[in-house]
Amino acid sequence: MFSRTRGFRAYVGLQIIILSLAAVCAFAQSQSQCSTTTTQRWAKGTTVYYSLGNLDPTQSQQVQNAIKQWQDVSDAQGLGITFQPSSTMPAGTQNPATLNFTNSTQYNAPGHMDPSRVRLSDQAIFTANISFNTSARFGQDGRAIFDNNDPAAATALYFKIALHEIAHTMGLDEAPVPQTGYCDQGKGVTIMNGVCGPNDSGGNLPDHITDCDKSNVKDIYSGKPPTSPNARPHDIGGADGGDACGSDPCCGDPCCGDPCCGDPCCGDPCCGDPCCGDPNCGLHCYDDCWQDCYETCGVEDVETGECLYWEWTCDPPVCQTNCY
Ligand SMILES: [Zn+2]
Repeated sequence: MFSRTRGFRAYVGLQIIILSLAAVCAFAQSQSQCSTTTTQRWAKGTTVYYSLGNLDPTQSQQVQNAIKQWQDVSDAQGLGITFQPSSTMPAGTQNPATLNFTNSTQYNAPGHMDPSRVRLSDQAIFTANISFNTSARFGQDGRAIFDNNDPAAATALYFKIALHEIAHTMGLDEAPVPQTGYCDQGKGVTIMNGVCGPNDSGGNLPDHITDCDKSNVKDIYSGKPPTSPNARPHDIGGADGGDACGSDPCCGDPCCGDPCCGDPCCGDPCCGDPCCGDPNCGLHCYDDCWQDCYETCGVEDVETGECLYWEWTCDPPVCQTNCY
């Protein structure tokens, strides 16, 4: 009985080890095809005010659908990032985080993200600009990436590109590209794939944020080191972009414009001095009081002028505080 139990345990243990190995292999394979990560992202707890620029109503709807998916990921992971239309920004909001969408032909890519204001201390994005280019063409064969002969598929691609570009503001970076080209990326594995064929007819891009993407967002927001093999030259400046700080004179300076930043005593001459302004603070004090009293004659002998009865009269007491 006893030995049979032990034998059974050993068998179960072996099964668990085999299953674990299989799981690790599957995980490693999917990881190698998933998005990479970078340090630039909205800081936790940021309210991001977005504007839809010159997008038409259909395009605006696709972007809002993509934002909704990212909002759900933020909510599920407790990131506290809130996407709000810029029209809802309260007047007087200090240093708001903004996300601007536009259609532009500046870059020959279906989508492009530039962070134009980034806090250097923690790489938090404060302003990001996402542009779509619906006339972009594939580099190799010159075919249009958006094929408007199939409007539904073109619209679906616009949505997937929005998911991809917003992902760049959440710390995700491109998925690795095999030497054989984009079309050999893991189909539908990550929204950070590239486009395969007009309107992504090759099915590279999923229409939802995948589990491996969510896992990578979780990693980057929990402080794990980024896995991106490059510095995202197309996203953070260099060839296509500009100075990561743009024209923000406060970029990278969390104390900008605040003369008291980091100084809890700013402007308070008594800061940290509980005796400030009280010369007796910390001393033992007592009141020293006295009064002057003197005798006056109450009843006098009218014949001899002799005083028959004396009484005491006192002045009011006088006090002085002494400390030592
Ligand atoms: Zn990208």
